[in-house]
Amino acid sequence: MSYNYEEIIPFLLNWFDYNARILAWRENPKPYYVWVSEIMLQQTRVEAVKGYFDRFTCALPDVKALAEADEERLLKLWEGLGYYNRVRNLQKAAIKIMDEYQGEIPGDYEKLLNLPGIGTYTAGAIASIAFQIPVPVVDGNVLRVTKRISCSFDDITKDSVKKELWQDLYNIMPSDRPGDFNQSLMELGATVCLPNGKPLCDKCPVMHLCKAFKEDKIMQLPVKPQKKERRIEERTILLIEYQEKFTLHKRLKKGLLSGLWELPGVDSKLKAEETIDHLKEMGFELVEITPLGEAKHIFSHVEWHMIGYHVKASKLDLLRMKEKEFILANKEEIDEKYSIPNAFSTYIKQI
Ligand code: SF4
Repeated sequence: MSYNYEEIIPFLLNWFDYNARILAWRENPKPYYVWVSEIMLQQTRVEAVKGYFDRFTCALPDVKALAEADEERLLKLWEGLGYYNRVRNLQKAAIKIMDEYQGEIPGDYEKLLNLPGIGTYTAGAIASIAFQIPVPVVDGNVLRVTKRISCSFDDITKDSVKKELWQDLYNIMPSDRPGDFNQSLMELGATVCLPNGKPLCDKCPVMHLCKAFKEDKIMQLPVKPQKKERRIEERTILLIEYQEKFTLHKRLKKGLLSGLWELPGVDSKLKAEETIDHLKEMGFELVEITPLGEAKHIFSHVEWHMIGYHVKASKLDLLRMKEKEFILANKEEIDEKYSIPNAFSTYIKQI
């Protein structure tokens, strides 16, 4: 149901003036910084993003550098953040900005929306924070805060609910400080109006306007139906060592972790003897196999339940390895050059 949020504006802006966290992309909100930070923040908390943001913008300080970056280096800079398609899209958009806008990120909401990897949320954030264009942003924090203020039991996972909120906020955007207003809503959600029924209402600047607080319904809001259970996939992960190097395998160009380097594996949990048989079939001669224990990694729709083995090989079929997209890399190359997804971190740490 539609709601008028106008009353909250002065209280939120005043609170934001004194309570906003100091962040590099906030101190210097140039469009490139806002864009990179917002893409990083889609998957990671602010505290964790700080380090990644500094490293990324130091290595690739502007759109041109991003557009021209070698793919391996780009993925390495993104290592640890996951969702590698986001950084690939970041680069596709940078190339488009170089081609169509002479390297200047367009200060236009519709043009931003037409760039790869930029949806309504990111376009709204860049437009409002970097260009002071009065368009709203609707993310999980904004949905939680507003649905509590209005005491709305709408299902926040529905697109229709998000669209209606976008329109409600669009109608009341303060034209003098649209970026600060958007950030104040997000900041309130991140630091005060916390999820899982634990908001710090006594610190909230809009407590006196919050209907859920007045009606004692905070614990029930926002309404978000349970997600479907994740699919469990069992895997065996192999740390194959040969002459102080380790085998890496390039994943297929489609699907989960597409096109990224991984530790080779098998799509089931194998016992040590079965692992030895499997590797012999692939042309490896083994001298030693050591179990590395179990590990779990959670993706959005899938969980990997893994078992790992460290295998020392005395011989391998290099030609066959090349055909199957395997390479050998030493520890330094794995640390510096190849980006290996977090899913393998338990076993990569053993190198
Ligand atoms: Fe959130 Fe509590 Fe503030 Fe309401 S009063 S907006 S529930 S922190």
